[in-house]
Amino acid sequence: MAKVHNYSAGPCILPQEVIKEAAEAVLNFDGLNLSILEISHRSPNFVTVMDEAVALVKELLEVPAGYSVCFAQGGASLGFLMAGYNMIGDHKKSAYLNTGTWSDKAIKEAHFFGDVDVIGSSKEDNYNHIPKGYTVPTDCDYLHYTSNNTIFGTQFKEVPNTTIPLVCDMSSDIFSKKVDISKFDLIYAGAQKNMGPAGATLYIIKDEVFTRNRIKIPTMLNIETHVKKDSMFNTPPVYPIYVSMLNLRYLKSIGGVPAQQKINEEKARILYAEIDSNPLFKGVAAVGDRSNMNATFVLTDESKQAKFDEMWKAANISGIKGHRSVGGYRASMYNALPVSSVQVLVGVMKALD
Ligand SMILES: *Cc1c(COP(=O)(O)O)cnc(C)c1O
Repeated sequence: MAKVHNYSAGPCILPQEVIKEAAEAVLNFDGLNLSILEISHRSPNFVTVMDEAVALVKELLEVPAGYSVCFAQGGASLGFLMAGYNMIGDHKKSAYLNTGTWSDKAIKEAHFFGDVDVIGSSKEDNYNHIPKGYTVPTDCDYLHYTSNNTIFGTQFKEVPNTTIPLVCDMSSDIFSKKVDISKFDLIYAGAQKNMGPAGATLYIIKDEVFTRNRIKIPTMLNIETHVKKDSMFNTPPVYPIYVSMLNLRYLKSIGGVPAQQKINEEKARILYAEIDSNPLFKGVAAVGDRSNMNATFVLTDESKQAKFDEMWKAANISGIKGHRSVGGYRASMYNALPVSSVQVLVGVMKALD
């Protein structure tokens, strides 16, 4: 089978080792002669998986004491709503940074809970940079931002400075680089960008949030429900959690987040160096705000498109067509994408004339 260089923006590439182990568990999980798809989520074998998944999240992200980790469903898109439900308090007002399609959707949900102060936005520039120089109001219950803008290829290089509680949608760069969890009150991430297959959503929450004066939260949307029941209030997405656990085990085996961060920086360095030095290509995002996960770029001469598309397809590259709202190309370099795949893409870019 020819190797496919998978640049999919999500669901994303996973390590071959993980895919193989995941496949085996579908046939025979833990030597039980049963599939992982047909056992109780309350069986000791699966409870062990859940415990290990939560423990690995805590270990790999160095989650400090006083925080809880849980898995829920609904994707990051339900996270937009759950952020508001769980974080809104006496101010009945929230602050948001609008840095892309996903932020915009999060802002839409925040309006269900009161006023929304969009304190910084790059919408006017088709989100090609991260807004700076904003002031965080003190009369808001929380500030929300999207750490990596999957569609537009921008990424916060620093955590925003704030004295109010901080909430982050980390869907597309969690586990890709070191973060100081203690700066956040709530982090959420859909699994399918950098953690595992679609179907599980990770929540990391400061326990103190549960003690605040909050609004009435429907049971399933209350993160405390899932924390208190160890992510087993109802049937959890067993398989996505299992595969995420395998992937986190794999991440640990290669040296954890710091080792992965080095690889990710190397991949981004190689690709952006080509984008910047090759006159046939141009980066879309402001240089200082470029994402190490999703690189967006265009051809400087549109007439070369058919030829370039033919060349990368012939090189077994998959998934680099840009999102319709940006056009051009987007190379998503999630954790499992090897450096060698980036070298193949750069080789194709160099060969274009
Ligand atoms: C993909 C993505 C989402 C949407 O995730 P779903 O799990 O499909 O709801 C939200 N935020 C970011 C940053 C994303 O990359």
